Amino acid sequence: MTAQLIDGVALSRQLRGEVAGRAARLTAEGHRPGLAVILVGDDPASAVYVRNKVKACEECGLHSVLERYPATLSEAELLARVAALNDDDSIDGILVQMPLPRHIDAQKVIAAIDTAKDVDGFSVHSAGTLTTGLPGLRPCTPYGCMKLIESTGRSLKGLHAVVIGRSNTVGKPMALLLLQAHATVTVCHSATPDLALHTRQADVVVAAVGRRNTLTADMVKPGAIVIDVGMNRNDEGKLCGDVDFAAVREVAGWITPVPGGVGPMTITMLLFNTLEAAEARRAGA
Ligand code: NAP
Repeated sequence: MTAQLIDGVALSRQLRGEVAGRAARLTAEGHRPGLAVILVGDDPASAVYVRNKVKACEECGLHSVLERYPATLSEAELLARVAALNDDDSIDGILVQMPLPRHIDAQKVIAAIDTAKDVDGFSVHSAGTLTTGLPGLRPCTPYGCMKLIESTGRSLKGLHAVVIGRSNTVGKPMALLLLQAHATVTVCHSATPDLALHTRQADVVVAAVGRRNTLTADMVKPGAIVIDVGMNRNDEGKLCGDVDFAAVREVAGWITPVPGGVGPMTITMLLFNTLEAAEARRAGA
């Protein structure tokens, strides 16, 4: 059996169309959704990420502000900028690009963002709403993975999902979102003795490790949904995921490619979160 490809580029395009339509309606009512992105330092990868985020905003009709500061910016100065954006009515979402320079406490900065504007969903408050099942902003990458799984048309209710990885930004929120969708969830990590024992029983596998070939064909149940979050380089320097794509494709039922799977969805869900934050603020205004 050859798996069906879950096309993150096509799904992103479709969802961005929806964001653009809803953003246009809000704009017509006098409230154009706005995202502020703060970049501290000159890490080249971070610069590319924030440029892509700002460009995606513009393409969907969202207002965006990019604030760039030198790596010497003090923690107090950054906190003051976050406070100013919290009070700025034209801004619905605030994203502080990670990593921050060492002298700045990232947790303190994330905690300073107005919870209604935490479009990265990284704050303790957002994590709490996810854990308790309350409405709130969800971390973009796992939120995008859920949309990719939904696009297969399979209900998660009663399925066994295995998440490989337990980071606060991907693995843990992914597990909670799957749980909320009524999957039975197993979370694996670097201290899991026999990873294959778990993945072989899984109807859904989400690999979020950062090590290529973590999931090989012998570890996958025939027909499973395989979501590859990993971003690695192969020996030729090409982008690849955590999954041995060519071989797993012959066993799985659905699979995301890398590139073209989870990657495009992450920015799309940031736009989605900004739009939803704008709609919520407007409804509460
Ligand atoms: P991370 O913070 O480094 O977490 C990696 C997780 O993998 C950890 O929980 C770690 O376990 C676990 N792990 C490491 N080796 C393992 C092994 N041999 N077996 C099982 N689990 C193992 O990384 P992350 O931020 O979650 O990101 C994971 C990957 O996704 C990276 O490649 C990253 O670049 C990619 N990513 C992609 C997107 C996107 O938009 N496509 C977004 C975010 C991240 P311990 O907790 O025990 O150390």
